[in-house]
Parts: sequence; structure tokens; C-alpha cells
Amino acid sequence: MSCPTLEPATLPVCPGLFYATPARDGILSRIRIPGGIINSQQGHAIAQFAEGFGEGYVHVTNRANLQIRKIQGITPEVLTTLQNVGLAATLTEVDHLRNIMASPTAGIDSLELIDTRPLVRELDAYICEHPELKGLSPKFSVAFDGGGAVSICEQKNEVVFRAMSLSDDWGLVENNIYFQLILGDATNILLKPEECLSVVVAIAQVYLDNVDQTLARKPRLKHIMQDKGVEWYLQQAERYLAFSLLKRLKPTLDKSINPQKYHHLGVHPQQQPGFSYIGIILPLGQLLTKQLHYLTDLAQTYGNGTLRLTPWQNLLISDIPNSSIPHVKDEIERLGLHWNANHIQSSLVACTGKTGCASSATDTKGQALALADYLNKHITLDVPVKIHFSGCPKSCAYHGKSDITLLGTLFEKNKTLVEGYHIYVGDQEQAFGRKLYTNVCIAELPHRILQMLRVYQIKRAEFDESLGEFTNRYTIAKLRQLFDEEGQ
Ligand code: SF4
Repeated sequence: MSCPTLEPATLPVCPGLFYATPARDGILSRIRIPGGIINSQQGHAIAQFAEGFGEGYVHVTNRANLQIRKIQGITPEVLTTLQNVGLAATLTEVDHLRNIMASPTAGIDSLELIDTRPLVRELDAYICEHPELKGLSPKFSVAFDGGGAVSICEQKNEVVFRAMSLSDDWGLVENNIYFQLILGDATNILLKPEECLSVVVAIAQVYLDNVDQTLARKPRLKHIMQDKGVEWYLQQAERYLAFSLLKRLKPTLDKSINPQKYHHLGVHPQQQPGFSYIGIILPLGQLLTKQLHYLTDLAQTYGNGTLRLTPWQNLLISDIPNSSIPHVKDEIERLGLHWNANHIQSSLVACTGKTGCASSATDTKGQALALADYLNKHITLDVPVKIHFSGCPKSCAYHGKSDITLLGTLFEKNKTLVEGYHIYVGDQEQAFGRKLYTNVCIAELPHRILQMLRVYQIKRAEFDESLGEFTNRYTIAKLRQLFDEEGQ
């Protein structure tokens, strides 16, 4: 194990545990959690770390790792302690690489085709033994999707392995379960599960061979493929493989992906009879350290002792006997948290906002929580409505589809510069959807959103038509008319 060191930020390295990365509100630490699963020892260790060196809370990120802000006075000894419980890379050089993503329900999902946890462990072990991988772009990202009900295929990753079952016999494996390699436009390559690691290694090696390692800002993998072509990249990768990637092309594959339907929240039966998992909503991904301690103990007492972090900034407790579910629900509520997928906070996301990011026009997190508070008092949702606050067009917090996107802006009102939002709805063919309202000031925002939700609940075509789908059926002018009538 290498001795941890605290290095000054050498941007564009992404935040890690061993890189003191400055943010507007202080030092930011990010702990890689491969596959998003932490055991009870790690849960308590992270909580103690955030209590001792942060401000008593942690955030689950959209890569299912943990982030602690406003860090002060951290010492190398503390980092060694965290390494000793298996947190972060044992090689500090690769600590900034992106977290390996996998479905948070791997191994328990009743619909999954294959448990991806062994693949995550295998890749993480490889990364931790190969310091040369520090030359990869910090955006280099890998995900494994086991083909279950909780898909992570819509999350942004540069290399995705998606399990699929082929009805016709491709003839390479006994049970016809393969991984589809999704790499740029090359989405039709089929691999045996045991081939995935060697393919990641080959893809990484080609990157290292072709990128000037002295560059301060490394190009993204996708930009190299756009520049040189995916076929060229695959041919280069084949030099490091014992088989031909291009011969694994299968022209006709069903590429459709089940959209994420909140199967990770609330209570769901597992593939293990008699056991369920429960998905817990964290307000904007935030977890107080006392909540983290308590949930860790809850998982130890009623589950298998692990917490599973999700890229939707929530977490799951798994392996709970069905008879214990009512009690676990009560305990979660006693902590001030919620588990119901229809709760307004279940699908509310916000980027860091102006308290932590100089690019932000608005206090996204504070305003998102204030909106949730207002809506909770005035309306009960019966299906989740995805509301995304972004402080600038970069959209760091969420790249998937939203029903409502609120883009922060500053504008002049009564000769004063005020914070507000442009409101976008539905249709994701455009970056944020279609622009419905411009320059809505903070005071006006809650009432505007409430009007929209009320009209949607009355006029949706069917119960599970999403708010985004509902708005897509109307012109912007008609939508404004409908919402304004509700407000009168
Ligand atoms: S979306 Fe923009 S404002 Fe928000 S954290 Fe990212 S860069 Fe900052």
C-alpha cells in the first residue's frame, strides 16, 4: 500500500481523497465507492471523517460516490485510516479516476441477468495495481449494467457494458447472457462476461498510447474516437486482445433501454425469496453524519450491513426480511427521511449552486429545498415529477430527462439585479426541453411550479403520463394559457 500524500490541486484532476481540491466554499474531497456499496465499518468511518474534518454531512453524487465539502485540517494519518478500511484507492496516483458505476441493485434485482459486482471488484483491483492508469482522462468512466429493473444505462459513462439475453444462440456462452459494449457509436459488440476486464484494459491502453501525457488537460475518450473514428480505435484495441472485437459485431441488436422508473425507491422484493430492499430519499443527496451512523446500524441490524449508494443520489438498504420492513420504514421516518417514490424530494436534483461554484447564477440547493418545502404543504404527488435546478447550462447535477428544468439566471428587476430561473419543460430533443417562462424571480417560482403541477394532475391523459409527456402534447402558448387560468 502506498503512503497517502496530500497534494495541492493540479487541475484538471478531478477531486479525490488525496487531492486537496479547492471549491468556492472550501476544500472538496470525493471518496470513490466502486459500485456504490459501503459496509458498516466504512459507513461509520466516513461519518467520523465528515464530523472531524467537514461540517457534519456528506453528499451522495451522481456517480454514486461520496463527497465532503468544506474540509479542514486533514492529515495523512486520517487518510491512511480510511485506506485501511478499504476506502479510496490504495494507489494515490489513480484516486482521481471516476468511480466505477454499477446498478445499485446488483445481485438482488429480481429481473437482472447477471450480478455485476464481481466485475466491479475485478476492475477496481486492476486499477489499484496499475499506476500508469493515472494518465487517463479524469473523465474516463466505466459502467456495468446487469440488465435488471434498475438500469444505469442512461447515466453518462464513456465505456458501458450492458447485459443482454439473446434469444438466438450466438454460441459463445452456455446461458446466452452477453455484455453489449457501448463505446461511442459501437453499440453492437457482444462480449462474454469474462472478457469485459481485458476490453477495458485494451481501451485504456490505446488511450495512453495516443495521448500526450504532458498535456495539462487530457482529451476525452469520446473526442479521440470522434477524431480518429471508432473503427480505428477498435482496431488499435484488438492489438491488446486475444480476440477480434470487430468480429463480435452483431448487426441487429435491440438497443432500447427501459427508462428509469424509480424502482430504486420504496420497497421492492429481491430475487432472494422473503427479502426486500428499501430505497431511501436523501434531500438533494445530503446525509447528515448522525443519519449515516444510524442508517449504517439499521443496515447492520436488519439487512446485510451494507448501504448501496445510487447515481440518483439516494441509497438502498438491502436484504431486509419482509417481516421487518414496517419497522425499518418507521425508523427511516424517525430520522426525518422518506422512502416513498412519490415524495417531492424523490426526484428533485440541484447542482452545487453559488455557495460552492463560481459559475452559478443562483443558490440552487437552497432554493430547491425551499420549493420542496412549499410544494409539500400545498400538493400531494401520486407519481414522481423530476425537477432539476441548474446554476448554469453545464448541468453538472443531472444529464438525464427531467420533467421541469430550472436554469439559474440573473436579471434586472426594478433596476436591481435579482436571481431567478428560466423554466423549461418536457421535450428533451432540446438541451433542457422547451422554454416555458423566462426570468421568473425566486418569490414567484413556488407558485408557478404549483400551478403547473395542479394543471398536470387534472389534465394528464392517463395516470402514468409524466409531466414532461403531458407538456409535449401542447404548444408553449397553450401551456401558458392553461397554467395562467389555474392561477386566476
Ligand atoms: S451546473 Fe454550472 S453552476 Fe452548477 S455546479 Fe456545474 S458548473 Fe457550477
